[in-house]
Amino acid sequence: MTTIKERLIRRIRATGPMTIADYMTECLGDPEHGYYTTRDPLGKSGDFTTSPEISQMFGELLGLALAQSWMDRGAPDRVLLVELGPGRGTLMADALRATQAIPGFHAALDLHMVETSPTLRARQIETIRHPLTHHDRIEDLPIGPPLFLIANEFFDALPIRQFQRTETAWREHVVGLTGDRLAFGLSGPVAALPHRLGDTKPGEIVETSPASHAIVATLGARIAKDGGVALIIDYGDWRSRGDTFQAVANHKPVDPLAEPGVADLTAHVDFEALAQAASPALASAMTPQGVFLERLGITPRAEALARNLTGPALDSHIAAHRRLTHPQEMGTLFKVLALYQPGTPPPPGVDPE
Ligand code: SAH
Repeated sequence: MTTIKERLIRRIRATGPMTIADYMTECLGDPEHGYYTTRDPLGKSGDFTTSPEISQMFGELLGLALAQSWMDRGAPDRVLLVELGPGRGTLMADALRATQAIPGFHAALDLHMVETSPTLRARQIETIRHPLTHHDRIEDLPIGPPLFLIANEFFDALPIRQFQRTETAWREHVVGLTGDRLAFGLSGPVAALPHRLGDTKPGEIVETSPASHAIVATLGARIAKDGGVALIIDYGDWRSRGDTFQAVANHKPVDPLAEPGVADLTAHVDFEALAQAASPALASAMTPQGVFLERLGITPRAEALARNLTGPALDSHIAAHRRLTHPQEMGTLFKVLALYQPGTPPPPGVDPE
């Protein structure tokens, strides 16, 4: 059996160093040995934990925000409810439960999920217990009905390229070989990012994610034409600056080149680039997750749930509320960007740009 590492080394020997984007694609998505293909990476026993796995409140509030957006648009009788990279399906299960009592909402829903991992697809079907269709790519979604879409910690998993500035141009960080070991190197000058020469200094690093831009462009075109909203939630900031490429295994940072396919690889999301790629759909102001969840009513919801809890269950519920919203936890590192059709209001919880 050839491991991803052996295959990468052979490929680099044959054709030279590869971009970080190509490295991420191989490590995460390889159909046989890729990180997401082969495992359920979430939760305590996995490598990382996400907001829906921390508390049911996250999926509940997002579901209600989408249902409110659906009502704001006149409660159309057929819509696509879509999630990109749903992980274990926890968010969607909580969203569906919370919106059960909204007259007509579930009857209007056609549920679709974009997910490449067979392991996680199976897990989602088990968790959600509502008819759903899986797709490999966003382009494969049915065309026509308005789109109500959620993507939590999806874009951070998509491949990035990384550039380092010289006086007048950029060089690309690439993955090559030092002897028999994978090692970072720098390409010669490349024609890239002329618009970032104005706000950076020599030596600075900037990242881009062409795969993310392409997905958001497809999404923006769909929403502008057919209507609907998208809620994109992830860690990152308004403009890419600095090296954010990271690998995590067992909830700890590890060397991203040490064990290809075994550690999770991510990078921060550049929300400005996503907002620009979404045109002609409108992009909201980027909103910190803590502010967004407070606006949607997480505190009254937390208090209502707390009334039925005691002891360690109550302690862990209080800790989960804090973890999702507090500025020193996920409250400000994580941001929300909404996309919506021109001439319609943004979803609740975010301001127009
Ligand atoms: N949204 C979930 C899981 C986040 S992990 C949560 O909040 O818990 C990232 C998810 O995106 C996983 O389900 C992974 O399998 C999926 N994914 C990663 N790259 C993908 C790609 N290129 N296309 C579709 N799904 C992808």
